[in-house]
This record gives sequence, C-alpha cells and structure tokens, in this order.
Amino acid sequence: MTRGQDALVRLDIDLGDAVFGGEKELTVDTAVACGTCHGDGRQPGTGARTCDVCEGRGEIRQVQRSFLGQVMTTRPCMTCQGFGEIITDPCYECSGDGRVRTRRTLTLKVPAGVDTGTRIQLAGEGEVGHGAGPAGDLYVEVAVRRHPVFQRRGDDLHATIEVPMTAAALGATLSMDTFDGPRELDIKRGAQSGDTITLRQLGVTHLRGGGRGDVVVHTMVQTPTKLDAEQEELLRRLATARGEERPEGRVANPTEGTLFGKLRDAFKAR
Ligand SMILES: [Zn+2]
Ligand SMILES: [Zn+2]
Repeated sequence: MTRGQDALVRLDIDLGDAVFGGEKELTVDTAVACGTCHGDGRQPGTGARTCDVCEGRGEIRQVQRSFLGQVMTTRPCMTCQGFGEIITDPCYECSGDGRVRTRRTLTLKVPAGVDTGTRIQLAGEGEVGHGAGPAGDLYVEVAVRRHPVFQRRGDDLHATIEVPMTAAALGATLSMDTFDGPRELDIKRGAQSGDTITLRQLGVTHLRGGGRGDVVVHTMVQTPTKLDAEQEELLRRLATARGEERPEGRVANPTEGTLFGKLRDAFKAR
C-alpha cells in the first residue's frame, strides 16, 4: 500500500469572492478507490496466489560476494509489484489497479482575502494510492479574475472615476458602486486629476482576520472635447475673467502637486 500523490487544481474566482469569501463548486479529476473491488484489485469473490518469484515476500533478496564478504541487497519484486501475491482475476472495472479516475464535484469554502497564487489544502482529497493506499492531499490554487472597475493592490481596491471639468472646479457629489453597494463620493471644489478619495474598510477582507483594506478612488478630470458656440463663448469669457487668454506654460514642481507626483506618492504609501 502506498500513499497517493498530491494533486493541484486551479480555481478561477471573481474579485467579489476574494473580498468576502464564499463557497465554490470545484470539479476535480483524480484517482479514487474502485467501487467494484474496494481497492484491492480483485474481481469480487476471487482470490490471489502467492507470487512465485518472491515467494510472497514482495521483495527479491540477492546475495553478492565482494571483497567485503557477502552483501545482501533487496529490491521490490517487479512481478507482483511488491504485494507478494498475484491477483488471479483482476477486477474488470479497474483492471486490477484498485483505482479508477473519476470526475467529482467538491464544494470548497474560499476564505475571504485570498489572492492569485493562494493555495488551499484539502487533506485526503488527492489521488488515492496504489492498492487502496491513503489518498494524497488536494491543493487548490486560486486565480482571481480581472475586474472591470477595481484593481487590487494588497487588500486595497483602486478605481479611477472620471469627473467633468466643471464638477471638478465647482465640487460635486457622485455615486459609485462598491462591493458593499453604492457609496457617495465627495468631489471637493478644485479637485485635480490624480486626487484620491479613500473609502475606509470597503476593500478586501484581510486573510488573517482583523478588518479590511480600503477602496481608493482616483479622480480623472475630463476636459471637454466638443464645444458648441455658446459653450466656447462662455469658456472664453471665463478665460478673460481669470486672465488666462494667453497662459504661460508654468513648469510644475515634479515633486508635488502633479499627477505623476501624486501617483508616485500613492505607490510609496503602500
Ligand atoms: Zn476494481
Ligand atoms: Zn513477487
């Protein structure tokens, strides 16, 4: 009897399953004990005869003479594969192997907080061993699918929201869907591209317990690209009022205030 091998399967889940955890059905294809012979490989009601090669020991002993004297070596008997007996009538179902490959469905509890590459171990759900040996373990490797809105960084979820130029200048309240339902986003007066709004504790549940990550929303200010005559006139009047008809390209300080600076700070803060 030998212990079966471990098996590895991949499970694709949605980001929402990683946020909250959940139950997933998993189809696995592994060797299980044959139901007809219950793993011993014999057609039911038939016996086995003692292996005449190894005389039932399951191993072959060889005595070799060397300058050290007699050396005895043993190796497994290939005729009976180490079982010491030979099945006279192999099971029709499994051809005497004691195992059959079957596809079965398991229900797996996916813990909240898993990420791509996380392995979940299911003891005894791997391949059954030869001669009805104990089964190995099954490892389920998680792969989290890409989400159209949220990008995961650690347990934080990042998203980008487009804000019209006028709303960015005047301030606004927008609604955004999260995994916990819609939430209000407070766009402050004078919001800039790259500003972030943090919604605390709406991210991925920490795998080891103790709260959740955050949702971090990055604002992206939308400059209008199509202006009708009236809108263009309004904007020109605004430019005049602000003394911006002939703006000077002022070089921004790369360490502060710019989109790149803010993005870099956001990465640094991780
Ligand atoms: Zn069988
Ligand atoms: Zn043998």
